[in-house]
Amino acid sequence: MSHFTANATYLNYINGQWKAAASGETEASINPARKSEVVGYIQKSDARDLNEAVAGAKQAQKAWRKLSGQARGDLLFKAAAALERRLDEIAETMTREMGKTFPEAKGETARGVAILRYYAGEGLRSVGDVIPSTDSEALMFTTRVPLGVVGVITPWNFPVAIPVWKMAPALVYGNTVVIKPASETAVTCAKLIECFEEAGLPAGVVNLVTGPGSVIGQGLAEHPDVQGITFTGSNGVGKRIGQAALGRGAKYQLEMGGKNPVIVAADADLELAAEATISGGLRSTGQKCTATSRVIVHRDVYEPFKQKLLQKIGGITVGDGMQEGIWMGPCANENQLRTVLSYTQKGIEEGAKLLFGGRHMQGAAFDDGFFIEPTVFEEVTPGMTIAREEIFGPVLALMKADSMEEAVELANDAEFGLSASVFTASIGSMLSFIQDMDAGLVRVNAESAGVELQAPFGGMKQSSSHSREQGRAAIEFFTSVKTVFVKG
Ligand code: NAP
Ligand code: MG
Repeated sequence: MSHFTANATYLNYINGQWKAAASGETEASINPARKSEVVGYIQKSDARDLNEAVAGAKQAQKAWRKLSGQARGDLLFKAAAALERRLDEIAETMTREMGKTFPEAKGETARGVAILRYYAGEGLRSVGDVIPSTDSEALMFTTRVPLGVVGVITPWNFPVAIPVWKMAPALVYGNTVVIKPASETAVTCAKLIECFEEAGLPAGVVNLVTGPGSVIGQGLAEHPDVQGITFTGSNGVGKRIGQAALGRGAKYQLEMGGKNPVIVAADADLELAAEATISGGLRSTGQKCTATSRVIVHRDVYEPFKQKLLQKIGGITVGDGMQEGIWMGPCANENQLRTVLSYTQKGIEEGAKLLFGGRHMQGAAFDDGFFIEPTVFEEVTPGMTIAREEIFGPVLALMKADSMEEAVELANDAEFGLSASVFTASIGSMLSFIQDMDAGLVRVNAESAGVELQAPFGGMKQSSSHSREQGRAAIEFFTSVKTVFVKG
């Protein structure tokens, strides 16, 4: 049964009140599988709304930081329960708003619940060390203090998990939050914020302001009362946000793109490797920052691997992610569809061989949405655009290597370094891959796109600002260390 109501209007959440934007304007969030469907209308906010939200968050932080970690954690447990109760409804909103299949959306929402519970428990864990002082009569230790108001800027590809994995640690460590979600998925975010409201967070602790990234996102990065900015999204935007934050001495954290490789060694389990390449590369229509995009295969097993891959890809069902039996939904928006198609065109022009797919899908089931075929290129060389730039679509680029050394060299020949996988039975190959691969996540005999909430997550090279999110690593960004020396 659907719990979904189309065409509703969603408000900003500022200082504990649901409010329309000062501009009086709204914009439509549409369903990429059926663009005639308006999922909801969101507020087109400007600096007036943002300033009010930051002022509310600043005021609320004074009392929030004084609560015990346990008390803050208890409220996160309540938010988790509220999100769990509304799991189907929020997952459906996500599928309608950005296109990933309903089972994937449910999995992501359940992940959001688990992340909230993980950080709720964090309220009772230790935060510092006792360090021996050279003065035998003194006590020296470290503790951690919140930053203050944290600005959270999120993309559309994980509309629940990313906001939660930023907001939950920010809150439990005593910060207050102003979130500016991707406009593409702002309705899903509004429902998530309703869960925090239902949990009973004090007014001003969590604030939602929707609107154009260039106004609200940039405004958060520049706001003098925002002490930390955590961003996930594209490299271009991330760098601008980092510069704005650095310019005024605020702390910032950027998680950005990837060009993630999988290496298939001569001794790989080809069935497993093909399955994981498809899952890692094409689930969520390739729109994960950890999605597999380059497939580097040992020459000796290239043909049998390719055959397995093509056979499996031929079985992929594309369509509206709310329909049962659909494996891959549409691109999340028209812009994304155009970008993917232009990369496909570039691949062909630069001499790669199109093995499968590559077309904008036509026909009654597809004409009202942004559907694209799963796509595979071969004879891709390292200099080609499709081997270098993040596509963020269901496109795999096959390359050949003569040895593990050459494969790792090819894998490292990228500006990005987020995640990477190898498929091999040899312990030696595993160990050299783990050691030599420049990526924040390296995975052996598993797809590139797996992330566990209790482990650090983040990239090397251009993929991040070199900080880490999730797990206990989150404490590094969301707090400052205070070193205390006490002499009685
Ligand atoms: P995006 O265009 O950079 O948008 C991300 C967020 O920034 C959105 O909330 C957006 O708001 C806002 N924004 C846009 N322009 C801005 C500006 N000038 N100043 C401040 N904020 C601005 O990225 P996206 O298209 O949503 O997401 C896709 C990208 O995210 C990909 O590159 C992907 O690799 C990356 N990503 C990385 C990770 C990771 O953890 N490494 C995870 C997921 C996605 P509007 O929606 O209103 O434009
Ligand atoms: Mg949409």
